[in-house]
Amino acid sequence: MVLVFERLLVSNTKINAKNISLRQIFDAVPRLDVKSILSMEPIGQELIIHGWVRNFRSNRFIALNDGSSINNFQLVIDFEKFPEEVIKRISVGSCIKATGKLNPSLGAVQKSELVVDTLDILGDSDPALYPLQPKKHSLEFLRDIAHLRFRTNTFSAIFRIRHAVAFAIHQFFNDRGFFYLHSPIITASDAEGAGETFQVTTLNLDKIPRTEEGEIDYKKDFFSRPSNLTVSGQLEAELAALALSKVYTFGPTFRAENSNTPRHLAEFWMIEPEVAFNDLNDNMDLAEDMLKYVIQYILSNCSEDLKFLNDRDQEEQKQKPQQERNEFSLLEKLDFCLKNNFERISYTEAIEILKNSNPNKKGKFQYPVEKWGTDLQSEHERYLVEKHFKKPVILYNYPKEIKAFYMRQNIDNTTVAAMDILFPGIGEIVGGSQREERLEKLESRMKEMHRPIQEMYWYLDTRRYGTCPHAGFGLGFERLILFVTGMSNIRDVIPFPRYPGNAEF
Ligand code: ATP
Ligand code: MN
Repeated sequence: MVLVFERLLVSNTKINAKNISLRQIFDAVPRLDVKSILSMEPIGQELIIHGWVRNFRSNRFIALNDGSSINNFQLVIDFEKFPEEVIKRISVGSCIKATGKLNPSLGAVQKSELVVDTLDILGDSDPALYPLQPKKHSLEFLRDIAHLRFRTNTFSAIFRIRHAVAFAIHQFFNDRGFFYLHSPIITASDAEGAGETFQVTTLNLDKIPRTEEGEIDYKKDFFSRPSNLTVSGQLEAELAALALSKVYTFGPTFRAENSNTPRHLAEFWMIEPEVAFNDLNDNMDLAEDMLKYVIQYILSNCSEDLKFLNDRDQEEQKQKPQQERNEFSLLEKLDFCLKNNFERISYTEAIEILKNSNPNKKGKFQYPVEKWGTDLQSEHERYLVEKHFKKPVILYNYPKEIKAFYMRQNIDNTTVAAMDILFPGIGEIVGGSQREERLEKLESRMKEMHRPIQEMYWYLDTRRYGTCPHAGFGLGFERLILFVTGMSNIRDVIPFPRYPGNAEF
């Protein structure tokens, strides 16, 4: 046993010991993933490898991928040593297990290769039927086979990065003393009014129980009242923040908005930090720090995947007419975001810029900007970010009429302490505010906006007992993934997108 252990240490000096389980150490031959093998010095050591065939050429070279890396690993087989039936079953998409020796490669592309001693076909893949071939497929085609698209370079890179971003977000908050709060998925009212909700019911839709007045009898429903999937965890996060001080949620949210856009999903993930004693400026600082932290994290930890997506994006850009091409490559864009402060301007300043802008004067906006108080459309947000400032922008102090009831009213009586962060190519990525902590102000705003005061006694209780200034924001996780991967459709950065007319897989 000691011998085996020593051999492993000697031959695999470069692999990270965390990648090997105890069982593997005691196994005679270690099973390693592609990523670890690619980092090793080849000195003829024996290995076991598993993976899916990406390509098989000249009846001799297998390009194998197991998802641990964007890079394939080359296996070399001497086809005279293996029965023809086995060779025939090595096809694109099939799954194999191989043992062999890791030798320096004679090819120019790779440092090492496995000279195969034994080969098992774990899963066949009929080449006549397998939809993925070693060539470029369109994103639309791959969306229709989302159950298989993980096996492409593009999607494996996206989902490895998605993981890294999620991990970085937890790390960011954990390092700063935040507590991860699990807000409920099923809630009893669309209290916030953030969007159209999906109703949750166990009532038999063919035989809906009615009251004597003919209304739906929700007393007979599962929760004895109407309920729905959450549109946001903010209100619950506020309750916790007024005791734990610093909390964040990170969970799925659901909006039945019928918006067939490349930036909206019916099911998406949101990160919602909520911090006691923070004001609007602290809130902006927190959001900017977090976004920069995440970008830095993936630049340091996902460089190969980012390089791949960067090159992919460059290819895409070449297909476009000159004026539609991005000014920056993906990597330049991320670097730029990291090195520059986000521009912070008030809504009022933004309206002035938009009113006097060329597209507005020339009637190029679909929604012309005429007066203070109008809601900004995505064309306006993108003008500010992409044409005017050419960097991320934080807009703050919005008219209270176009914002939610819980946002803190400013001294001018017309604006609230809201902030939205706008990103190039994306538009709104973060929406947040300092919350109204003063009971009377909150109640009167709720009355004006017809929010149910009685029903929301629990929310108002935080203002009744030991209220304090606090602030928070919501970050759309998929919008962030869109930005850092350079993809253009939100349906391509979540494993199985839900949108109007589609809940496949
Ligand atoms: P938009 O105006 O883009 O629809 P919103 O104002 O409805 O956004 P908020 O209610 O403030 O958005 O939600 C917070 C964040 O969640 C947004 O900044 C955005 O990043 C994200 N988001 C909102 N709606 C969706 C959606 N349907 N799909 C994906 N992400 C979303
Ligand atoms: Mn919306």
